[in-house]
Amino acid sequence: MGLKLADARRLPLLPLRGLLVYPSMVLHLDVGRDKSVKALETAMMDDQMLLLCTQSEMSIEDPTQEDIFTLGTIAKVRQMMRLPNNTIRVLVEGVQRAEIVDYVPNEEFYEVNVRTIEEMNDDSPETEALMRSVLSQFENYVQLSKKVSTETLTSVSDIDEPGRLADVIASHLPLKLKSKQELLETADTKERLDKLLQMLNNESEVLELEREINQRVKKQIEKTQKEYYLREQMKAIQKELGDKDGRAGEVDELRTQLEKLEAPEKVKEKAAKEIERLEKMPTTSAEGAVIRNYIDWLLTLPWSNYTEDDLNLSKAESILEADHYGLEKPKERVLEYLAVQQLVKRLKGPILCLVGPPGVGKTSLARSIAKSLGRQFVRLSLGGVRDEAEIRGHRRTYVGAMPGRIVQGLKTAGTMNPVILLDEIDKMASDFRGDPSSALLEVLDPEQNNSFSDHFIELPVDLSNVMFVTTANTVHTIPRPLLDRMELIPLSGYTELEKLEIAKRHLLPKQKREHGLSEEQLAVGEDGIQRVIREYTREAGVRQLEQRLAALCRKAAKRIVSENVEQVVIEPELIEEHLGIPRYRYGMAEQEHQIGMVTGLAWTEVGGDTLNIEVTVVPGSGKLLLTGKLGDVMKESAQAAFSYVRSKAEQWDLKEDFHEKVDIHIHVPEGAIPKDGPSAGITMATALVSALTNRYVSKDIAMTGEITLRGRVLPIGGLKEKSLAALRAGIKTVIFPQDNVRDLEDIPDSVRQELTFIPAAHVDDVLKHALLPEPPLQQPVM
Ligand code: ADP
Repeated sequence: MGLKLADARRLPLLPLRGLLVYPSMVLHLDVGRDKSVKALETAMMDDQMLLLCTQSEMSIEDPTQEDIFTLGTIAKVRQMMRLPNNTIRVLVEGVQRAEIVDYVPNEEFYEVNVRTIEEMNDDSPETEALMRSVLSQFENYVQLSKKVSTETLTSVSDIDEPGRLADVIASHLPLKLKSKQELLETADTKERLDKLLQMLNNESEVLELEREINQRVKKQIEKTQKEYYLREQMKAIQKELGDKDGRAGEVDELRTQLEKLEAPEKVKEKAAKEIERLEKMPTTSAEGAVIRNYIDWLLTLPWSNYTEDDLNLSKAESILEADHYGLEKPKERVLEYLAVQQLVKRLKGPILCLVGPPGVGKTSLARSIAKSLGRQFVRLSLGGVRDEAEIRGHRRTYVGAMPGRIVQGLKTAGTMNPVILLDEIDKMASDFRGDPSSALLEVLDPEQNNSFSDHFIELPVDLSNVMFVTTANTVHTIPRPLLDRMELIPLSGYTELEKLEIAKRHLLPKQKREHGLSEEQLAVGEDGIQRVIREYTREAGVRQLEQRLAALCRKAAKRIVSENVEQVVIEPELIEEHLGIPRYRYGMAEQEHQIGMVTGLAWTEVGGDTLNIEVTVVPGSGKLLLTGKLGDVMKESAQAAFSYVRSKAEQWDLKEDFHEKVDIHIHVPEGAIPKDGPSAGITMATALVSALTNRYVSKDIAMTGEITLRGRVLPIGGLKEKSLAALRAGIKTVIFPQDNVRDLEDIPDSVRQELTFIPAAHVDDVLKHALLPEPPLQQPVM
């Protein structure tokens, strides 16, 4: 210590606010208060010494004697610098502890008489031990607090004066002013070290606690903040990548949609969860797109949307009547069905299945049902559906996964109680991808379908209010369990007269409307329509007819626009000009009686048709050749016919072993079309006999009937369709099985008037009518 001070002397006093100076400390002070500036100036004029005492309360601007601690530090001003705002910055060095004895009266500044206080150092081992403890505790503190530099620590550890060591360390600690003052007032160095040690301990402890708390809080904050930061970062990245709104906008929009969604709680929860998942996905991720697709489905399905049924039988009747010509029986059945539905108030009954050839109005009937109930209508085609997933949807893990057709249908309908038409239910196939019909069974089962599970949607979908209507061309290929659930309503083909009426009343007006033609702009006479029916269509229904009429409308529209004509009149002679050469020869029965060729009548899914069977006999070794894409049943039927003819060889003047010297070739032309069924039996037998005996078969006759080995004629199906086809082909007489006589009732009068029906119980009856009595032209081949 360079300065030696007198024990007592007079000094200017500088009260300090919130700060305390120990001897040996060097530090800057900013002096601004007037009194303080005066005190400083006075000191500067003398030996630059003054007394630094701390105010007990920092906030007091003009302290009295009571506000100032009496013990302070005498300091020497080393430097002085005036700052612009009228304050003075000084560099002071603490010199020695001193106590105020009394205040000297002075108006301008505080002036005091002081008594210096000697340090009471001792170098006992106890002090030494205390010093070490303090030092190591301070080290510990430095490590914890990180606010004190390691250089300070090294310089502190060099100090060997105990009092000074305590002062320096105390100056580095964030102690309360009171504690600092207490240390200043403790003249005994051992005691001072002791107090300091306690304070250090205390500080370290507080620091330790502080650290723990900090860590805990930090962890918590970190977790919430981390997510926030990451999200912000992601947004920034997305923005950088040119993605304007990023996920945020998308997700917000979905949430608003979800709020408006009316759906069961489960659905909403699921949607909310998925939106949350989506939020975390980068916009470009493929998985994000999958989730988005799923959410869209959940949000757009009409979960709680129902139309009110408004069923009134007389209204339903008039709608059915207005939309369809003929179809008396089916309409009646539909009305009965609706009446029952109304009575039981629940759609628990069987499912309607409209069965018939294409174009006979099945779809259109179903549409009218929906209309009369005031329900939405959706048509789902099941033709060629082989995969269960088409009904039930793909699991979401598949790329491009979609819900099944049923759920898609609900979306299209926009309600949960539409009429859904399952079209061509007989054309559904099953293969290794699962059996769609079993999924369909679940759809149609009233016990199960209130919670139909779609693989994609994953939530139960209530189908119990949907009214299902199905259509089929034939019932043979419908799986049994499905068939059991259905109420079949057969629709058969139309007669020419019916077609004419349908065309006049419905098809032509509809096509005109669709082509923007007024009623007068196009005139097609009845004869014209008949020509179209006869020469441009060959079908049970009216689908081709509708297409041809549409073609006429197109041509007319073109002429009206390009040639500026007012009205287009299509006379029967002009049809060819518009539709090209006729496709079918009406009444295409053979022009001449034939040998070995007989017209059969077949019934297929698309209605009735004629079928020519040709037989040639050539010398050979007894082979029976069958060609023309015949199915197994038909082949067997040919064998049976042949066996019958052989067994009765005698009857036809044939030698018993005739068949060993000839080859017989049975051919059914139009080979591309597969043919099957037993009903060509008698036709083949007739053709065989004709060929073998060289007798003519009447060109005006067509026939249908199964044959047994004994020659009995067994009943067949579809007599009505077959006779319509016979009429179309210009046939005059139809030979049919005796057992089908009661089916004649179903045949429209117009058809019965034009055709002669001959029932046959045995092939002999058939041959009697079919073979012409003329004598053979030449000798039989054998
Ligand atoms: P399907 O479903 O049996 O194949 P559609 O219902 O599609 O037949 O009928 C084909 C077209 O013929 C439709 O335009 C339909 O309106 C019309 N149509 C069929 N039958 C009738 C009918 N009896 N009266 C009026 N239009 C009919």
